[in-house]
Amino acid sequence: MSATVLAGAPAALVLLEEARRRAAALPVQPHLHLIRAGSDPASLSYVRGKDRQARLTGLRSTVHALPQDVPLPELLALLARLSADPEAHGILVQLPLPAHLPPAAVQAATDPRKDVDGFHPLNVGCLWAGQPGLAPCTALGILALLRHHQVPLAGRTAVVVGRSPVVGRPVAGLLLAADATVTVAHRHTPALSRLTRQADVLIVAAGQPHLVTAHMVQPGATVVDVGIHRLPGAGGQFVLTGDVHPEVAQVAGALSPVPGGVGPMTVAQLLLNTVQAAETQLGRSAA
Ligand code: NAD
Repeated sequence: MSATVLAGAPAALVLLEEARRRAAALPVQPHLHLIRAGSDPASLSYVRGKDRQARLTGLRSTVHALPQDVPLPELLALLARLSADPEAHGILVQLPLPAHLPPAAVQAATDPRKDVDGFHPLNVGCLWAGQPGLAPCTALGILALLRHHQVPLAGRTAVVVGRSPVVGRPVAGLLLAADATVTVAHRHTPALSRLTRQADVLIVAAGQPHLVTAHMVQPGATVVDVGIHRLPGAGGQFVLTGDVHPEVAQVAGALSPVPGGVGPMTVAQLLLNTVQAAETQLGRSAA
């Protein structure tokens, strides 16, 4: 038996269509500002992809490319200017930042209503308090992927491997809000496989290639692989792989592929967050 594929492309298309429809219903074009510092190749490629998809979806997008050694006050001044600008609706600072820029200070400097990455402490608090706000895109994207493929969550046992503020923690909060019973594992969790084998829904965001193998998965479970790794393949080429070993497809009931699972959901959800932010700032509710 091979697991059902939790494909991201069709699910992302639904989110993008919703973003396009809601953006078109607004009196102004939602404007996303993407800020990056330095020339990390992965960050360059992510920002390029977000900018391109924003334009394709009918949003305005502006990229601010700052030098690797941009002083913190200069970045904070840009965030203050965009936060005060009524024509800027969404602000995203691409991570990772150069080492001299503390992420917490940067994240707290964005107007929470424009914080489309959902990392501002106020938005983090809203997520855990079950109040409306902007939540992190990958976590929302994972929930949207599960919803699209009609994976039930209420009353089910969910295990999240990873507790980063970017994926593990927010996805745990969203699963809890969806009435799942949630356990969060991390690098200090002993006997990981004993926990993961209890999961009806297993979310793996550990950043460790092929950490989860077939014996760690309950037969029939739904497994979402968030990890992305570029590993050397045959003939000097690179292959993209995740945190879940491909053999898990023989045990799981459903499995998200890498690439083509969570990845497309993250960008689509960012654009939906930008439209939501614009609606809030313009005093509109979702159509
Ligand atoms: P991170 O390094 O910030 O966090 C990893 C977490 O996993 C930590 O909490 C750590 O304690 C835990 N962990 C590490 N090794 C473990 C182990 N052996 N057992 C149990 N827990 C362990 O990473 P992140 O930012 O959360 O990203 C995780 C992965 O997801 C990475 O591969 C990243 O590239 C990928 N990612 C993908 C998307 C996407 O859109 N598809 C978005 C964000 C991150």
